[in-house]
This record gives sequence, structure tokens and C-alpha cells, in this order.
Amino acid sequence: MTTATTTGPHPHGDRLPPVRPYQSYVYAYPHKTAYRRLPDRPLLSTLWAGEPKDALSLYLHIPFCEVRCGFCNLFTRIGAADGLTGAYLDALDRQAAAVREALGAREPVRFATAAFGGGTPTFLTPAELERLCDIAEHRMGADLRAVPLSVEASPATATADRLQVLAARGATRVSLGVQSFDDAEARAAVRPQRRADVEAALGRIRDARIPVLNIDLIYGIDGQTAETWLRSLDAALAWRPEEVYLYPLYIRPLTGLGRRAGDADPAWDEQRLRLYRLGRDHLVAHGYGQQSMRMFRRVDAPPQGADDYACQTDGMIGLGCGARSYTAGLHYSFDYAVGMHEIRSIIDDYVSRPGSDFAHAEYGRRIDADEARRRHLLQSLLQAEGLDVAGYRARFGGRAPADDFGRELTRFAERGWLKDAGPHTSTLRLTPEGLAHSDAIGPELFSPAVRDAMAAYERK
Ligand code: SF4
Repeated sequence: MTTATTTGPHPHGDRLPPVRPYQSYVYAYPHKTAYRRLPDRPLLSTLWAGEPKDALSLYLHIPFCEVRCGFCNLFTRIGAADGLTGAYLDALDRQAAAVREALGAREPVRFATAAFGGGTPTFLTPAELERLCDIAEHRMGADLRAVPLSVEASPATATADRLQVLAARGATRVSLGVQSFDDAEARAAVRPQRRADVEAALGRIRDARIPVLNIDLIYGIDGQTAETWLRSLDAALAWRPEEVYLYPLYIRPLTGLGRRAGDADPAWDEQRLRLYRLGRDHLVAHGYGQQSMRMFRRVDAPPQGADDYACQTDGMIGLGCGARSYTAGLHYSFDYAVGMHEIRSIIDDYVSRPGSDFAHAEYGRRIDADEARRRHLLQSLLQAEGLDVAGYRARFGGRAPADDFGRELTRFAERGWLKDAGPHTSTLRLTPEGLAHSDAIGPELFSPAVRDAMAAYERK
């Protein structure tokens, strides 16, 4: 039987201390809990002056959902009082106008990718979705029909009329949060939905002929077994989705599940690792290539443009409450919260802002040379294709990752997580067990300053 923690022989004969495999999902570094109020409220026009703007990513955040799933710590609220979604789009429009102006009229601005996330963007009505696309196209200048456009949806809101709007406006990918095809498991994860409704939504997405369907599934749910997990995987595979994301269940503070239980449970770690390996092997056996710990892509799926995980460039424009933006030197956002009461008041504050407020960055974290290297290492190493050492050298003045992170890389190699960590290796790649431990590797690469800021963050 495998153990949930990794130990290994140490060069001096000691055992390495055990490592918990599920510490945190590092989808962006630094995490928003390391952001702080920026006392000088820098002008966006100053922050963006001199930044490359020929291949930016555009992200629009819609912070509304029909229910709050028990595992979710994203910036979103349940439902919307009368008129709130319209007021939110008005504010988004004001923000887009201010941000576009700050990017400058003189040099060309080009968006290479676009995404609508949340929350649940399809919580909006079809007419509101048209308006959202108008903001991206007419205010920001993104050519939605020419670039990859990804949209998140839930089964109940993936209706034919909404999908028709999205397909007509250029959506190339719909990501459906299914989580489990087993009704009892869906209830246990506090995402009550019926399998019949999920299947109907998948049918509507395929009917809309949006090129890429992604299905999100979760493992580690109370009561989930190898059999029920395989049944969910097979139910997903029956739709031949171009992508499948497998997420370990996390119990996070202030979420529905987080109010009930603790997170540190070796038996649960063991269950999650077992289900992860089973899921990974099942998908690979059915013609999927592993891109990262969570992401699998059908090997014969049509190629897509760059996705934000592979993208090492810094330029990202996030619009809406809770959305992040990145320049090379600063990551910034609005205030952030997980608790429902706080989220509501942050959204209310956002919709009442005049356009002039959106010309400034209010919360954020400066990215110095050390943080830029960490970010590059983290985001490349956690991809199955690994880190190209020559690319790292070219970006960071000829230094190799081992020059900057020798101690960490040696530790990963000792644990059997790195394929070839020798001085002449051209690509740093994780082993299968390294990929399985991505959520332990990520946090080990946080800088002490980011770690301290995250620990000092007061959850709300
Ligand atoms: S998991 Fe998705 S659908 Fe569920 S509450 Fe979070 S954002 Fe909304």
C-alpha cells in the first residue's frame, strides 16, 4: 500500500521528514492573500507604460452563482438581488473604459486570449452575456472571434440560448463544473445537482458546437470509492471531452465544508492519492495526455491557443471584482474575501465606484527579480512538460534554476520528484510522483516574504 506522505532515503542515512501531499493549489503566484493595500494607489497608466501589450490575456470575472458549493473559496456570491447583475455590468463597463484608456491610445494593444470566469458567467442572462462580450470587444478591443475564448458554466445555467450567444460571439471552450456524476457525492460536496440535469447540459454544450468541452471532476469526496470514481470518469469520457480537470477536494477555511471539518487527515490524504493515481491512469489509458497534476487533454483534440498555465509572459488584464491583473512588476486586484458577508459588501462597493476609481490599482504585491524567478520556476515545473533551462537562462541573465533554487531542487530530487536534476539537464521535469505531489512542491517554492504575508492575512 502506498503511503500518503512521501519519505525517502536521505544521503546521510536519515529519513526525510514526511510531506503532506495536499497543502495548497498554486494556480497563481503569489496568492491573493499575499496582496496588500497599495497606499500610493498607483495609476494604471504609469504601471502599464513600457509594458509589452501585443499579446495580453483578458479575464472578466462574474461573481454570481446559483448556489455556493461546499468546497469553493472563489470570489462569488449566491444569487443577485434585483438589478445587481445589470449594475455590475455597468461597473464593468466603466472599469473597462478606464483600463483601456490607461493602456494608452498610441501603441497598439492586442489580446491573445480571453476568458470569462467566476463565479458562473452563465448566471447572466443571454442579453447580459451579449453585453459582456460587447465590453470585451468594443471597450477593450479584444477580437473574440479570432482568439481562444474560454467560459465557465454550471449545468443549470448552460442553457441553449446562453450557449448560442457564446458560440456566436466566438467561445472556443466551455468548462462545466460537474464535480461528480453521482448524486449522493454531489450532495456530500454541497453541490446538489442531479445526474440527469448534468447529462442534459453536456448534450446542449455539444449541440452548440463549441470546439472544446472541459469537464471538472473532484476526488476525495466523503463516501467516494474507487468504483464510484471510475463510474464518474467513464460518464465524463462518454462525452469525449477535449479536456478533463481532476481536482482533489480541499476543505478551506470559511467555506461550507470548512465550517465542519479539519483538513489534516492522513487517511484522507491516502484516499485522495489513491483516487488521483486511479484517475490519471484511467484517463491516460483512454487517450488523454497529462498536462499537469489536474489537467488532461485528449491527444487527438484540436490544438488550442496558449492557456494561462503555459504562459510565462506577465501581461494580464483582469476586469471585475476579485479579478487579478499582472504587469511585470506588480500583481494587483481589488479587495478579496471568502466569507459571504464580506464578498457582498465588496461587490456593493465595486458597483458604486465612479469610473475614475478604476484608473488606479488598490491592492497588490510588487514582483521583484527573485519573485519573478520563483513564479517562472513554479509555473513551469508544475506542468508535465517541465521547465526549459535555456529559456530560464535567457530570461534571467544567464543563471540556471539550480543557481537560484539549488536547495529546493536537491530536496525534490532526493524525494524522487525530479526526473533528472543533473547540472547538464536541459529540461527540469517532475516524475509521476512529483506531479502527484504538485500541491506540496508549490508551497515549498514560496518566498519567505510571501509565506509571511499569507500567514498574516486575516481571512474574512
Ligand atoms: S465551485 Fe463554481 S459554481 Fe460552485 S460556488 Fe464556486 S464558483 Fe460557484
